[in-house]
Amino acid sequence: MPISRSGFDVTPLASPRISELASDFTPEEKHVILHQGTERPFCGVFLDNKQDGVYTCRLCALPLFESSAKFESGTGWPSFFRPFDPDHVKEITDRTHGMARVEIRCARCDAHLGHVFDDGPPPTGQRHCLNSISLAFVAKGEPLPLRS
Ligand SMILES: [Zn+2]
Repeated sequence: MPISRSGFDVTPLASPRISELASDFTPEEKHVILHQGTERPFCGVFLDNKQDGVYTCRLCALPLFESSAKFESGTGWPSFFRPFDPDHVKEITDRTHGMARVEIRCARCDAHLGHVFDDGPPPTGQRHCLNSISLAFVAKGEPLPLRS
């Protein structure tokens, strides 16, 4: 099975399993996570979260971003300058809305996360712009609840 650089199983989940994991989602969660929606800015629960820990995929719990890479972008969405592991975040060119943007999805379950832009801070210059709704948070010291 495919293992990421940081040691997690990144075998893509089958669509029946994805539907099962998403079965308790609200309509807004389904819209954003499964249908590439965008939550309204300044509304997400993680925008002002300053705790140390790891942000995981809301759907499959794969670790996606660490609090140490979070920065205040002023956009109204939680922003990170690098992923937890580049093998955990898949980039897809998105040509909807009349512009070319790079969409980011969970590499394991295909959950829509947000977009990545090249106007972020050092050291990477990247700005991963996330929907809070696509994430869950695991505080430092807590076990990572990986679901497969
Ligand atoms: Zn996932």
